[in-house]
Amino acid sequence: MQCGADGTTVAPMNAPLPTAAPSPQERAARQDQVVQALLQVLPAQALLWHTEDTTPYECDGLTAYRQRPLAVCLPETEAQVQAVLRTCHRLGVPVVARGTGTGLSGGAMPHAMGVILSLARFNRILAIDPASRTARVQCGVRNLAISEAAAPYGLYYAPDPSSQIACTIGGNIAENSGGVHCLKYGLTVHNVMRVRGFTAEGEEVTFGSEALDAPGYDLLAAVIGSEGMLAVAIEVTVKLVPKPQLARCIMASFDSVRKAGDAVAAVIAAGIIPAGLEMMDKPMTAAVEDYVHAGYDLTAEAILLCESDGTPEEVEEEIGRMSAVLQSAGATALAVSQSEAERMRFWSGRKNAFPASGRISPDYMCMDSTIPRKRLADILLAIQDMEKKYGLRCCNVFHAGDGNLHPLILFDANDADQLHRAEQFGADIMKTSVAFGGAITGEHGVGVEKLASMREQFTDAELQQMEGLKRAFDPQGLLNPGKVIPTPNRCGDMGMMKAVQGALSRA
Ligand SMILES: Cc1cc2nc3c(=O)[nH]c(=O)nc-3n(C[C@H](O)[C@H](O)[C@H](O)COP(=O)(O)OP(=O)(O)OC[C@H]3O[C@@H](n4cnc5c(N)ncnc54)[C@H](O)[C@@H]3O)c2cc1C
Repeated sequence: MQCGADGTTVAPMNAPLPTAAPSPQERAARQDQVVQALLQVLPAQALLWHTEDTTPYECDGLTAYRQRPLAVCLPETEAQVQAVLRTCHRLGVPVVARGTGTGLSGGAMPHAMGVILSLARFNRILAIDPASRTARVQCGVRNLAISEAAAPYGLYYAPDPSSQIACTIGGNIAENSGGVHCLKYGLTVHNVMRVRGFTAEGEEVTFGSEALDAPGYDLLAAVIGSEGMLAVAIEVTVKLVPKPQLARCIMASFDSVRKAGDAVAAVIAAGIIPAGLEMMDKPMTAAVEDYVHAGYDLTAEAILLCESDGTPEEVEEEIGRMSAVLQSAGATALAVSQSEAERMRFWSGRKNAFPASGRISPDYMCMDSTIPRKRLADILLAIQDMEKKYGLRCCNVFHAGDGNLHPLILFDANDADQLHRAEQFGADIMKTSVAFGGAITGEHGVGVEKLASMREQFTDAELQQMEGLKRAFDPQGLLNPGKVIPTPNRCGDMGMMKAVQGALSRA
């Protein structure tokens, strides 16, 4: 593998195998060996290896990067998961766990010489306990299915990624996923009590407990957000919260992104923690309005959606305070939802922002970074300058209250130059986020997408410490190798991934 101007040949530090592209003959021989071994521990219908069967698994939501695995395992029992892991460990085969593949950073992208371990069949809700307000579920259960199962008890699972209809709790744990309600109710890491799973060697492990705390180091927090590199989650206990009696939403228009960004900081500074505080800029508003007709103000440079939930009295008081803060911050128009149907209409645009972007561009790259709230306006203006610099359009929709940006860079993946400019644009956003005191990911993870940006954030020594943690769990580096931790002092960027991991395909 070659990368960078100096043509240095390197292997990702956490990759167990030489990553130089194998010859077709080498790959076929290895595939045959791995398939024969896996057929000893899995029924034939639980193993896919023909090209037409493995193609759907070649990427996640970061569709510009694709790689077919040697095989896809679809176990149904824990004993089968354990046997797959033990077999792969014995043969030194990389294993990439997969939920439903909605990840946006290439976290579930296969390894060229590895297998995909699909947990899609682990989709049972094991217990809902209204007394302790917890749910025990298998890792392949969809995020929304937990809330649906808890609804009869007046409870729900708070972290709500926009992809919640499809994404799994296992994927949420691996990415420490967030959503609109996480400003008030916390991210995945704040809402998961216990994870049981297996190490790369197939050893059963449990992190956390169903009690308030667990003895020893807080390895639960280390595993949540570890992108499937430390262990495979199988069973999860999550917290449930009572459904609020009422929720209402304010839609506020602003004639400049600076005023809208400053208004976000002003709401929090006033001591209000809204149930959701989201922002959309003018290009995004136009795209979603055209798609879902939510009634958004098309003259506004930016709009904010600010939600309040609780008892009717709490909501009335908070809506009043938020309205006052937004007005003094320069809102040009305010609308407060008067019914549940109207509240859902306000949110319909925000929730459909990604598909709406797909209607105005052949491809888009959804970036994910965080910055201190007070720098929101600064970064949005910097992104406007970058649009000119890279000659590409960008729409912004994001969790403003958390300072979690989601710039959607629009491009055409059929045009290699546009893809290259989109990558540079994305890297620039990451660099600027770090320079503004932020982080290169808020909720989508690093995957392969942000390998290079890890060096903007961390020193080589810090990266080596991360590698040390990985090795403590997975000495052979078999779980999701080549993700998250770049090789110190070498390239390890998306360009490298392209060269190594596979052909670029149209999204
Ligand atoms: C339209 C759209 C909207 C989105 N909105 C949001 C949002 O609002 N907030 C947000 O945070 N994300 C969002 N996402 C990103 C994505 O949905 C989340 O990252 C989600 O948690 C991924 O879940 P998944 O089951 O699809 O995981 P996958 O994509 O299959 O895998 C993601 C990572 O988790 C690992 N993994 C999966 N299952 C396990 C397991 N059982 N054990 C160990 N590792 C595992 C994989 O190896 C990979 O590294 C969005 C994506 C899309 C397409």
